[in-house]
Amino acid sequence: MKICVVGGAGYIGSHTVYELIDAGHRVIVIDNLSNGVRSAVHSKASFYNADITDVCALDMAFKTECGAEPFDAVMHFAAKIVVPESVENPSLYYYNNVEGTRSLLDVMVKNRCKNIIFSSTAAVYGETETGVCDEKTPTKPASPYGETKLAVEKMIGWFAKAYGMNYCVFRYFNVAGAHSSLKIGLWRENMTHMIPAVVETAIGIRDRLIIFGSDYDTLDGTCVRDYIHVSDIAHAHLLAIDLLQKNRSEIINLGSSKGFSVKEVIDEVSKRHFVNFEYGNRRMGDVPKIVASNRKAKELLGWSPRLGLAEIINSDLAFRQKMAEIG
Ligand code: UDP
Repeated sequence: MKICVVGGAGYIGSHTVYELIDAGHRVIVIDNLSNGVRSAVHSKASFYNADITDVCALDMAFKTECGAEPFDAVMHFAAKIVVPESVENPSLYYYNNVEGTRSLLDVMVKNRCKNIIFSSTAAVYGETETGVCDEKTPTKPASPYGETKLAVEKMIGWFAKAYGMNYCVFRYFNVAGAHSSLKIGLWRENMTHMIPAVVETAIGIRDRLIIFGSDYDTLDGTCVRDYIHVSDIAHAHLLAIDLLQKNRSEIINLGSSKGFSVKEVIDEVSKRHFVNFEYGNRRMGDVPKIVASNRKAKELLGWSPRLGLAEIINSDLAFRQKMAEIG
């Protein structure tokens, strides 16, 4: 099939491109390289350097590739994703995530592309009573990041009704790890995410890890998250293509259904390397606990995570060590 991957040079997008190409699909990547890197794009994928807020550039790429046949599916990964940054700069998040997706949807409609897979987030749930969320759990985002993703979910729903589109919205929980080839992974300066931060501390790239808050209402007082390997996430996208081909539209959680506290993650990494950490203040926008029910993904897609926390940490560790050696 012919699949367009918007944001295919970024972390999750590039892993999905690898999976798609391994499965024999033809892949067209559109990315503005603001977060992603050109070298992360699989050599067998076609590449267009375009910003999703630039309707003309997007339309040109779609026209070139959809001349005879529209894309069988568009996978949309291009977004700003850092919770604290979104709290400081909501405008950037509304412009890029909401306005950018509106442009993409317009261009899809114009070019007769009717199937979209959208990367949403567990952050749409916000703070819930139990911290365990299925897709029916009421949404109450605690940050502009979560708000913009929820706004896009709703926008896609209305576009689908108006223009006969199909969608699969994936709500990712905490994605981490790297590709088994170690060619791609999550690598940038000043990483704010937990697994890269703790692994960087373990291998001496940073001198200590600050635990943001130790007085949450959880077992050990630190926040609980549901970590899921990026290759498991990528695989779910391939399975979703079938759902769209059957004209189904769904919202689906992608998580492991297991929660680990920040302290438990540090303990797991400490089995391999010493981790220098200290307790600090709570971080704005954080909720105490967020863990997926992944029953729907299992039932509808036949998907379940193949890799657990230990493998996620091993894979991130191996990737980061390799990158640190390269310099
Ligand atoms: N966290 C932490 N220290 C760090 C980075 C993250 O204590 O240096 C905590 C953060 O406060 C949250 C959890 O780890 O409770 C997961 O944060 P991350 O940014 O990875 O993902 P989020 O759940 O915010 O999307």
